[in-house]
Amino acid sequence: MQLRIPKKIDLQNYIGGKWTPGQGEKRIVISPYTNTIIGEFKESTKKQINDAVKKAHSGHLEWAQRSLKERTQVMFKFREILLRDIDKISNVISSESGKTCAEAQAGLMKGIEVLEFATSLQNLDRLGRMEVSKDIFCEYRREPLGVVAGITPFNFPAMVPMWMIPIAITIGNAFVWKPSDKTPLTSKFITDSLTEAGLPAGILTLVQGGKQTVDAILEHPDIKAVGFVGSSPIAKYIYQTGAQHLKRVLALGGAKNHIFLLPDADPALVGQGVADSFTGCAGQRCMAASVLLAIGDVDPLINKIVEKVSSIKLGENMGTIISTTSLEKLTKAIEKSKKEGAKILLDGRNPKSPKGFEKGNWLAPSILDNVKPNSEAACEELFGPILSIIRCKNIEQAMKIENENPYGNAASVFTQNGAMAEFITQNARAGMIGINIGVPVPREPFSFGGFYESKFGHGDITGESSLNFWSNLKKVTTKWSSVKSKNWMS
Ligand code: NAD
Repeated sequence: MQLRIPKKIDLQNYIGGKWTPGQGEKRIVISPYTNTIIGEFKESTKKQINDAVKKAHSGHLEWAQRSLKERTQVMFKFREILLRDIDKISNVISSESGKTCAEAQAGLMKGIEVLEFATSLQNLDRLGRMEVSKDIFCEYRREPLGVVAGITPFNFPAMVPMWMIPIAITIGNAFVWKPSDKTPLTSKFITDSLTEAGLPAGILTLVQGGKQTVDAILEHPDIKAVGFVGSSPIAKYIYQTGAQHLKRVLALGGAKNHIFLLPDADPALVGQGVADSFTGCAGQRCMAASVLLAIGDVDPLINKIVEKVSSIKLGENMGTIISTTSLEKLTKAIEKSKKEGAKILLDGRNPKSPKGFEKGNWLAPSILDNVKPNSEAACEELFGPILSIIRCKNIEQAMKIENENPYGNAASVFTQNGAMAEFITQNARAGMIGINIGVPVPREPFSFGGFYESKFGHGDITGESSLNFWSNLKKVTTKWSSVKSKNWMS
């Protein structure tokens, strides 16, 4: 697939089944490939959010009355439309987020896996009923919450929203979606696809904007739950503000993911696994490895990573950094680390740009060796294709570094020793662990979510755990008097 940067897309809100211009501040969307304007929108005002929630609420009353099987039919159709339009939608994802076309497609496909999980709820979500005493039965019934909301980040314009929307809607809620103000264009295509699939008016609402729009969502009394994915400081703010307004909140934050590298690891698995992990999506994903804990003599393995990464071609198998500001932050971090004594094994600054995209925000993969454990490159989420290697004498030192990091999203171990892999699995503090896997994203029906500063709230955002977040479980206990006569109808 060849990237085609779109001409300016006029983006609006989708409220009560109608495309409606925002009434707030005007905003622009810039492609990180060209630094040209590819979209424009106006933020949604508080008044518009109030109107949207009113319409979502009345839509929900009818939608929730439909059976789960009937709601699922819309999701099957939605899947068909996404697959039909995958090139068109992936092109928009790439253009606004800087991903390669292949990464954009892969992200959308991962979102479709969550959608497939939502379509399987009609068969999977059997809840429970049992006779708890003679002739007394207890059962669970799942009920939607009503109007719920999702606030999503720039780096997966389709996949992260798809973690939430299909499950929340299939359960019977009406969903208010506020996409990232940096990459909001994909939301138009997802919304159009759901509308074409037959989703009734008001069940998916799209509102555009930044902090003000988010605050209007957090403060609205009729929004019962908020799912958030983004950076940790904002996740914390969303969690605190949402809870203050008595909402159920699950807010996923940033990450600093560690790889434990042991000398006995399989070189082929290490080369591919580590390279893919820190360079995929140009390092702009919450599952990207950013610290390599090099335990003992692992130089041959590090050479394998350098060799693998050196073959990456910008624009072909690695995309751009989201903005000029982020690019500047990353290049400064490399310089700072160098000044602190790190050895630069690969310096990705000022690379040759791919033809036709000379104005893009390019940074090639960068590997810093001998990084100090308490330095910025070792501790902060940089969010770019930078791997910081910390040399460790033993496993205890490596574990201490991982455990002292405030985040807890993912960690991986590369070894052929099962007992060592098990030790690291048990003692690392991250919520998602990979064994000889660089990007340990759990697949459905397993749930996705980290711990500590990487997630505020209880439960996980996908898979089985997410069902209870988007619903209430009603507990029903029943006893009937026994039938006196068998022929009472005659
Ligand atoms: P961000 O926190 O800047 O923005 C996320 C969302 O919050 C966007 O919709 C944005 O418009 C909104 N927002 C921004 N500032 C706000 C404010 N002051 N008040 C209210 N809302 C605000 O994150 P980002 O830069 O879009 O995304 C990258 C971050 O997301 C990284 O930290 C990454 O690790 C994280 N992320 C985490 C996961 C995960 O599963 N844990 C997944 C993807 C991305």
